[in-house]
Amino acid sequence: MKFLQYRFAITMPILILFMTVFQSCRQGQDDRIIGVKIYDHQGSLEELFSEWRDLGINTAFSSLALLSSDEYRLAARENGISMFVIFPVFFNPEALAESPDLYALTHQGAIAKEEWVEFVCPSSEEYRNLMVENARDIIRKYDPDGISIDFIRHFVFWEKVYPDRNPATLPVTCFDSTCLAHFQLETAVSIPDSLTSTAETAGWITENHHNEWTDWRCNLITGMVQEIAEAASEIKPGILINIHLIPWAQEDFNGAIKTVAGQDIPALSQYADFLSPMTYAHMVKREPPWIHSIVKDIYLQTENKIIPSIQVNKAYLDKELDLEEFEESLLEALKPPSGGVVFWSWERLNQEADKKEVLKDIIMN
Ligand SMILES: [Zn+2]
Repeated sequence: MKFLQYRFAITMPILILFMTVFQSCRQGQDDRIIGVKIYDHQGSLEELFSEWRDLGINTAFSSLALLSSDEYRLAARENGISMFVIFPVFFNPEALAESPDLYALTHQGAIAKEEWVEFVCPSSEEYRNLMVENARDIIRKYDPDGISIDFIRHFVFWEKVYPDRNPATLPVTCFDSTCLAHFQLETAVSIPDSLTSTAETAGWITENHHNEWTDWRCNLITGMVQEIAEAASEIKPGILINIHLIPWAQEDFNGAIKTVAGQDIPALSQYADFLSPMTYAHMVKREPPWIHSIVKDIYLQTENKIIPSIQVNKAYLDKELDLEEFEESLLEALKPPSGGVVFWSWERLNQEADKKEVLKDIIMN
């Protein structure tokens, strides 16, 4: 009997300790963002949210079109789904169709357009103010829990940039007269009058003032985030800010995350609650462990919560993204220090019952 009491005295504290650790792990898991990007939905909202509950999905990154539906917002609230609005900034085909002079210009003097990817000049004061006003309006009208700032960078069709890409062939923008005027005004640089073509000017800047140019271009992007984040917080104090990042590590393509995309991660993170790299591994010809490597690279620059977004099925390439690759990608995306995962997109995921089962097994267990 005494022996049993002794055993009880030893094992109980161990059991309690184990349960506490287990519970805190579960709580840690519960803090995770399990999100989907959703652009459109036809059919029952009750069924949609009930399925999300089953799958453990707790956050929706919604298009403005969807968020503007009263029924959608109400049903999301009732089901405890956190709602972010996806807010594209410098990608704006409608504005460019209406005012083609808004196009950003490449170092060759061409408009910033490749297939569907087309970008607005990030220096246009009028356009920047319009974006800030749009953010205010959306938050006033639809009261989202968060704003997910997308296309907040310079022009590049990164979805088709593969590991063997020569960095020198990546586009650098914007060399239009607005940007060149602001660049000279806001730095000590003075572009010689003898340079006439855009290509000549771009060559001279790159050759002589590469660092000033890169810093100034990054500031354009960071400044835009700051303006949007401050306006959003004025309308709704405590609103959450997420930023979509190009999935490039600091050293990839000779530092193109800054020199091409203009995304200065430590600077951007000052204004964000979450950073969401678009780690679409299959699309950019990387293996699933690459997803975790990008999360780690960002974590070493900032301790913000990082929520990698992963693709659900193939895009741009013919090769299928099979079940095994999906599962491995999800497991890599969730590895610490990740703060969760965002699936791109619900519409795509919804077509694949077997992938939803894999997701459920991983998220709910
Ligand atoms: Zn410009």
